Amino acid sequence: MKLEILIQSLQHWHKESGIQHEWKSNSPYQAWVVETILQQTRIAQGSAYIERFLQRFPDVSSLAKAAVDDVLKVWEGLGYYRRAHLMHKAAKIVKERGLWPKTKDEWLNLPGIGPYSAGALASFVNNENCPAIDGNVIRVFARWYDLDINLYSAQGKRHLHSLVENHLAHCHANQYNQILMDFGSNVCKPKKPLCSVCVAQAYCKSFTKGTIEDRPIKKVKRPKTHRYFILYWHVNECQQLGMAKREAKDIWRGLWTLPHKEIAMAHWNSVIEKTNALTHRQVLSHQYINTAVLQQKAPTDISIDTHYIDLPDAILLPMDRSSRQYIDHLAKGYILRGRQ
Ligand code: SF4
Repeated sequence: MKLEILIQSLQHWHKESGIQHEWKSNSPYQAWVVETILQQTRIAQGSAYIERFLQRFPDVSSLAKAAVDDVLKVWEGLGYYRRAHLMHKAAKIVKERGLWPKTKDEWLNLPGIGPYSAGALASFVNNENCPAIDGNVIRVFARWYDLDINLYSAQGKRHLHSLVENHLAHCHANQYNQILMDFGSNVCKPKKPLCSVCVAQAYCKSFTKGTIEDRPIKKVKRPKTHRYFILYWHVNECQQLGMAKREAKDIWRGLWTLPHKEIAMAHWNSVIEKTNALTHRQVLSHQYINTAVLQQKAPTDISIDTHYIDLPDAILLPMDRSSRQYIDHLAKGYILRGRQ
């Protein structure tokens, strides 16, 4: 199969597929919000966040003017909070310039924008004929060309880039980047690709060679590390809850949490055995965050300041997932008692 025929077949498949992109927009602001939220999040989970985000911050001025706590509140539960901080920073830059980026290179200069997002935004918003290489595109090209090199290495990236550019010499990225991503997520899926109905089958070297399962070559994954935290739930006599704000460049940056201290695994086991504490485990990309909550005042030797905040206000603060879960659970008793 010739490349031109492959491209035409994919364009025809896409037209007939009925795939809709409800959030797709030519507005740079909306396109940027959607791309950023969906960077590490599936559409099913991200849609509600996109809607809420655009309602709360309908344009770049409202986002630039907002307090970072308000941005984190809308973001709460989505994870990768660094994205929210960087978006807020980028919004201020755009507002100050009074201009949105016009090219891929200009998008790349905004905080929080990597090569994939820059390519996607420049091609969708500015009509630039440039690649946008996400995991779907990596997988599809690895299979079409039976690439047995590490496509995450510098050399692999260069090679892949030149292959995608070769396709773009025959079509336009504005439409083709979307087609590739949709083809990867709907047909050439990571597991059980739909080879029997695939319009690219005759072009696919891995299909011919029977190497589909081995493409792309897997990224070597770093083993996840475990971290252990003891959190403290304490409501004082004025019905105020002890809370702490994480400011350090670490997990939960900018979020509120219950006051806490990080401990070693050996200590963790003994705390859990002795106290029967409620526990929670959060899975992040490179680490497991294990937390347990003790219902007592935080000891004075913890390295984070405790602020006592009226319980109804404390509940509304943007916070990490563990604290949210404990507070939702433990605050119920206080709210019920308050109503009696
Ligand atoms: S034949 Fe299978 S592996 Fe090859 S492109 Fe089509 S779906 Fe992907």
